[in-house]
Amino acid sequence: MDNYLKAGKIAANVLEKTGKKIVSGATHIDIVEHAEHMITDAGAELACPTTLSVNDIAAHYTPLAGDTTAIKEKDIVKLDIGVMIDGCIADTATTICLDPQYDDMNNTARAALQKALKLATPGTNLGDIGAAIESEITSKGYRPIVNLSGHVLSSYELHSGFNIPNIKTDTRDILEEDMVLAIEPFATDGQGLVKEINRVQIYRLIEPKPTRLDAARKILSLAKTQFHAMPFTPRWITGISPFMMDSALRQLSASNALYIYPVLKESAGGNVVQAEHTVIVKEKPIVTTML
Ligand code: MN
Ligand code: MN
Repeated sequence: MDNYLKAGKIAANVLEKTGKKIVSGATHIDIVEHAEHMITDAGAELACPTTLSVNDIAAHYTPLAGDTTAIKEKDIVKLDIGVMIDGCIADTATTICLDPQYDDMNNTARAALQKALKLATPGTNLGDIGAAIESEITSKGYRPIVNLSGHVLSSYELHSGFNIPNIKTDTRDILEEDMVLAIEPFATDGQGLVKEINRVQIYRLIEPKPTRLDAARKILSLAKTQFHAMPFTPRWITGISPFMMDSALRQLSASNALYIYPVLKESAGGNVVQAEHTVIVKEKPIVTTML
C-alpha cells in the first residue's frame, strides 16, 4: 500500500509538471525525457515508456532517439506515464488541448473518469463502470473508444487479469477489495475505434530466445534485468547503431522473444482525448495518482 501511494504521488507530480511543458514548439523528446528524468530522480523506476500521443494517435507513441518533431499550435496531446516502486505501479494520463475547441471533449473524458472512480468499490460489476463511462461521453455527443480499456495492475505487471471497459459490456467480472486498477476513458469525435499502424516504438520481453546477434542478446538482457520484462523503448538503449537496433528488434519480434505495441490511431482520423488514474478498490476508493 505504501509503495502504491508513493508511486502515485510521484506520478501525479510528474504529470502536472510535465503537462506545463506541452506548449507549441516544444520537442516531443524533451517532454518525455523531462517526465522520465523526474521519475528516476525521485527514486522510482519507469513502469513503461512515457507516451505522447498527438491528435488522432490514441496510444503507444513515444519518440525514438533523434526525433526532432515539435508540438504544433493546435495539437491535442495525450501524456501518459507509468511510475513504479518495488513493482508497485502508478499509471496516469492527461490531455493538453492547445486547441480550446477540444476543451469540452477533454472535460467529458475527465468527468467520465471521475464517475468511474467512484464505482471502484468492492462488488461493482465491471460492466457498470463501462456503462458509466460510455453514457457520460455519449451524452455530450462524443464516442468512447471501444477497443481501448483500463486494466488491473499487479506486482511488475501493467495488464494483469481483466480489462476495465470504456463501454457497457455484459460480464460477470466483479471488483474485489484491494484490487489496483488503472481506469482510462478515451473520447473521440471520430469513429470510436483504434487501429494499429505500421510503426512500433514500444516492446516487452515475452521470453528470451537464442540469437546470434550481439545487439539482440544485449536487448534481451536489458529487457529482463533492467526493464523487469515491462514495456520499454529502444530510446532507452545506448551503444547499438540504429541499423543494428532495427535488425535486432525485427528478429526478436519475429521469433516472439519480444511482444510489440504498434502505434494506435483513431480509425476515422478523429481527435482523441484521454484521462487516466490509478485507484485502489475500497469502500471509499483511494485514487493514488491525484494530487
Ligand atoms: Mn497509462
Ligand atoms: Mn493504463
